[in-house]
Amino acid sequence: MRLDVVTLFPEYLEPLHLSLVGKARARGQLGVHVHDLRQWAYDKHHTVDDTPYGGGPGMVMKTEPWGEALDEVIATGYEHGAAEPVLVVPTPSGRPFTQELAVALSARPWLIFTPARYEGIDRRVTEEYAARLPVCEVSIGDYVLAGGEAAVLVITEAVARLLPGVLGNAESHRDDSFAPGAMANLLEGPVYTKPPEWRGRGIPEVLLSGHHGRIARWRRDEALRRTAVHRPELIERCEATAFDKKDRET
Ligand code: SAM
Repeated sequence: MRLDVVTLFPEYLEPLHLSLVGKARARGQLGVHVHDLRQWAYDKHHTVDDTPYGGGPGMVMKTEPWGEALDEVIATGYEHGAAEPVLVVPTPSGRPFTQELAVALSARPWLIFTPARYEGIDRRVTEEYAARLPVCEVSIGDYVLAGGEAAVLVITEAVARLLPGVLGNAESHRDDSFAPGAMANLLEGPVYTKPPEWRGRGIPEVLLSGHHGRIARWRRDEALRRTAVHRPELIERCEATAFDKKDRET
């Protein structure tokens, strides 16, 4: 997968050299290209913002630097053989970022991110590229960040761990909270490791039983219980699996 990020703060994306994403880059599973938007602003001060039409506080990011930046980034990616990109636009007014969306984005060969600052980017930029490419406006939550770079880090990490070969165990995201399938609309339950007793606290007996069926039932019940407590609105959308139906009958 190829990722391009156009930003006013390239250093903000440095964590993409670390941990799982950094290793995926080192192994060649992910190519990350970070670009400084100011290189496409040609006045003395490399200005990228201006006052909003209609008045009001704050500044709006200008069309021209974004247009030139995106044209060049897109042309360069195509020159290097990349297939059609998705333009991922972080914005509080976008579609909520979910595991389902992470799965969909992980199937794409190329993502281009446009994290903004100030009051956001002049609307015409998104409209211009939506006429040529798939555009996905994404919100990472119902709050307002100072800029979209943190959203890019969040989205990239969630997407990269789904790429084939990136996680050590390919199965490990199948049982995660929100994973499509049996865990859709469910939170994962508690997890434990050695030692079996710590500060007087033990672990649930069933986990020591070696009985796979009982362990699976316990994990599912804990996931349901945790979801009902923390996210009651999700539990209503949670469907009984074949496993639940069988247990209900017995
Ligand atoms: N005035 C804008 C509004 O109320 O929707 C907020 C602009 S915010 C200060 C600057 C930039 O941070 C946004 O354009 C976007 O790129 C990013 N951003 C802020 N909150 C975000 C969120 N919840 N999800 C994704 N991106 C966000």
